[in-house]
Amino acid sequence: MPTVSIRDQIKRLVELQGIDVEIYAFKRELKEKPALLEDLKNKYESSKAQLKALEDKFKNILVDRKAKELELQSKDEAIAKANMALSSLKTNREYSAKLLEIEGLKADKSQVEEKILISFEETDAVTAAIEKEKKNVAEAEQIYLSNKKEIEDSIKEIEGKIADLDGKRKQIVPEVDKANLTRYERILENKGGLAIVPVRSMSCGGCYMHVPQQVLSDIKLHDRLIYCEMCARIIYLEDDL
Ligand SMILES: [Zn+2]
Repeated sequence: MPTVSIRDQIKRLVELQGIDVEIYAFKRELKEKPALLEDLKNKYESSKAQLKALEDKFKNILVDRKAKELELQSKDEAIAKANMALSSLKTNREYSAKLLEIEGLKADKSQVEEKILISFEETDAVTAAIEKEKKNVAEAEQIYLSNKKEIEDSIKEIEGKIADLDGKRKQIVPEVDKANLTRYERILENKGGLAIVPVRSMSCGGCYMHVPQQVLSDIKLHDRLIYCEMCARIIYLEDDL
């Protein structure tokens, strides 16, 4: 391979930078996609968990109600038994005591009945909440699935664009000296995708710091790559290429 002049290598590196700026932007975009999808998935999952919690609550209320109904039944039986016992009692004292016991059982029974009524109100409320949450789940699922498709399509599209850009890159790369290319790529990685920048109005196009006259003169010599003294990026003069 004939030696390519520094001036031409810089031209190629500038072309490469143009491609790499796009590649970096696409890669940043790619990085954000999974988090976006994860967020929608979490919303869907949490809505499903919420629905499950409501359904469990509903079941628990039913189990609890069943127990209350059995309790009610046993109170009824106890009241009937106490009523039966009344006729066989001999003394007024025993009779009064039994009546008191019956009053107590009736009071207990009415408390259990009250709790059963409340449990019906609770199941009505939970049923309404379940219906509402089912709609939320369906909506979150729809949003998640449609975005999933959209995001996956867009990932494929971006990957395709990156592959195209990589193809263009491969055509330019052989025209740059290997050591210079390695330097360029190392800076690219360390400096967020910006390795070679023009000097405009004596300022570095990467860090905007002043570039001394001596450095400008060095650039114009075209005998090696020149770096910004502040940010270490490769610097060049646009009208000198
Ligand atoms: Zn700089």
